[in-house]
Amino acid sequence: MGQSVSVTLPVGVAAPPLSVASTAVLGAASGLSAKIKLDRMSVYYGAFLAVAEVSLPVYAHQITAIIGPSGCGKSTLLRALNRMNDLIPRARLTGKVWLDDQDIYAPEMDVVDIRRRVGMVFQRPNPFPKSIYDNVAYGPRLYDRIPKSELDEMVERSLRRAALWDEVKDKLKQSGMALSGGQQQRLCIARAIAVEPEVILMDEPCSALDPVATLKIEELMQELETDYTIVIVTHNMQQAARVSDYTAMMMMRPDRAGQVIEFDVTTKIFTRPSDKRTEDYVTGRFG
Ligand code: ADP
Repeated sequence: MGQSVSVTLPVGVAAPPLSVASTAVLGAASGLSAKIKLDRMSVYYGAFLAVAEVSLPVYAHQITAIIGPSGCGKSTLLRALNRMNDLIPRARLTGKVWLDDQDIYAPEMDVVDIRRRVGMVFQRPNPFPKSIYDNVAYGPRLYDRIPKSELDEMVERSLRRAALWDEVKDKLKQSGMALSGGQQQRLCIARAIAVEPEVILMDEPCSALDPVATLKIEELMQELETDYTIVIVTHNMQQAARVSDYTAMMMMRPDRAGQVIEFDVTTKIFTRPSDKRTEDYVTGRFG
């Protein structure tokens, strides 16, 4: 956990947006480096402003949770981090998203490479209708020509890393669809890991899982933090409090545009938030 750094932005008024300069100050204050930096990033669907002027650091090797009421733009913000919104017709972004020192929306950037570096795990486990082995090997086969022996090693390493190897090592040729929900989600994590990403985005990864499977994924996330930077969208407050190091609290303005109203160390957000609306939300008084 880093030291407390509080940023509170008003909702419904023209707040001076947090600039990259001030996010750099946040990074310096916590002694952490930002893997991703958002600078006044806005996302539109056609004329509708869904996410307004978000400036935020995503610290390297930390878990950052994005919380807030339904419809406030959490998934939209998450998808902006690996250009998944590009797949939505009429979605448009202004401002900057920096991955290390690269502007990921710059014309020369290779979208396929960005999505390899910033992987994604979705709400519903979505294994391909292929064998467990082929699910994990899918990405490496797509990106590189790898000899079979190396591929075998990569599949085993990824499944071990996703805490699934012991459960599936004797049935790698069986369909990934035949696994339990929790196992399927760990398979999807193994598939994401197999292409050696730097960042893993998770959009409500446990919402379709039972409490035991949820706990396993949460434990796994904490193990993965050593090697990866993780951003998770969750509507589960306990989950955000349990697993994340930093939390961004989002709210909708009266015009329904989503804003980050507070970003801080997770313990502070859940014990001494600066914004009354954050307190009301995390204590379950609304949302
Ligand atoms: P959250 O994840 O917080 O529930 P979303 O990011 O899914 O919020 O949605 C934010 C806003 O953007 C909502 O008003 C939603 O209706 C709108 N929205 C989301 N996806 C699309 C889309 N593909 N096309 C148009 N509007 C969308």
